[in-house]
Amino acid sequence: MAEKISATRFDLRAGTTGVMIVDLARIAANWRALAALVRPAECAAVVKADAYGLGAARIIPTLIGAGCRTLFVATANEALEARELAPEAVIYVLDGLIPGSAERLIAARARPVLASLPEVQEWSSLRPANGRRHLAGLHIDSGLNRLGLPEHDLQRLVANYSLFSSLNIGLVLSHLACADDPMDPRNPTQLATFNRLRTRLPHGPASLAASDGLMLGPAYHFNLVRPGYAIYGGQAASGRKTPVEPAIIARAVVLQVREVSPGDLIGYSSSFSVQTPMRIATVAAGYGDGIPRSASSTHRQPGGVVGIAGQLAPIVGRVSMDLITVDVTGFSDRDARRGTFVDLLGPNVPLELAGQLSGTIGYEILTRLGRRYPRVYVGETTDPSSRLITAL
Ligand SMILES: *Cc1c(COP(=O)(O)O)cnc(C)c1O
Repeated sequence: MAEKISATRFDLRAGTTGVMIVDLARIAANWRALAALVRPAECAAVVKADAYGLGAARIIPTLIGAGCRTLFVATANEALEARELAPEAVIYVLDGLIPGSAERLIAARARPVLASLPEVQEWSSLRPANGRRHLAGLHIDSGLNRLGLPEHDLQRLVANYSLFSSLNIGLVLSHLACADDPMDPRNPTQLATFNRLRTRLPHGPASLAASDGLMLGPAYHFNLVRPGYAIYGGQAASGRKTPVEPAIIARAVVLQVREVSPGDLIGYSSSFSVQTPMRIATVAAGYGDGIPRSASSTHRQPGGVVGIAGQLAPIVGRVSMDLITVDVTGFSDRDARRGTFVDLLGPNVPLELAGQLSGTIGYEILTRLGRRYPRVYVGETTDPSSRLITAL
């Protein structure tokens, strides 16, 4: 990826303050690696929130091209977009059936993941013209207490023969609470609960694991796994090597560099007080670009970092809406000057580090970062006519 990225030139005349570089070949390779890991289970792809902020319009065709057949989105509108991009795919909608959204779901030929009795009732009351019941997923709760039928509602559902027999369930699923920690005893507890609750239902396809859950081993795979984050290169499971690699670089431009002296104060609320002579680069990226404000630092308390020329440079002072200030003392004029780009995410700043240094997780960084930056897609796999983009 590094070679491809360095071949990617930025044309500053385009006036852009930053860029998100998305390696489609890497994303396809990540999906294939996960699919190989879980075989014979099916590997779906979660593409909610505009494919975690990376652009569903490009990510979905890439994943379909890699062999993915089942997509998960969160909303009916996301399902409509996904359907245009993937005419043949099975599409599940994780938010289920919002009152009144049935028409939109049916238009998208999407399957809501029904997660409560009222949703089940509303969906089963639909009478398709051809007499064949619309397919749906069924979410049962195994301990997360967020979405999904709790055990007593599952019991009521199966006891209500006319309601239950009017359902056409394509997938029964549940979601793990603590899979990011492979040693957490609540993982096997939830697995056992899911297995027990499934015995109350007729035999059919089941799914429990997302990115981190699928790393827990074959007992967690069932018929289908539903990773999102790992496909985009996130290391969802702490302390374990996973078969995926980073696929995203985010960069922002340096607007100016200045010298500051002991006693000077940097940024809003003057929260960073300069102790020794420093060089400060002001970079065009702020919380309006998805850098958490919690990446701010004081002279006592470190915060986030950016990558410059293979090294890390700390953010100093407050993150403001459009700007951060970065300590570039010790970097050469060539690496840190007006018009150069620094990495908000990149080889030295993985998603996990960016999350950790801001008191959040890589997921939040990924889904929020760089919404006002153009996306540059490299490593095209699906469209042979398009070439590597070398300029913005
Ligand atoms: C978002 C989501 C996923 C995907 O999770 P990742 O950790 O990104 O792999 C899977 N299942 C459900 C129910 C989700 O909400």
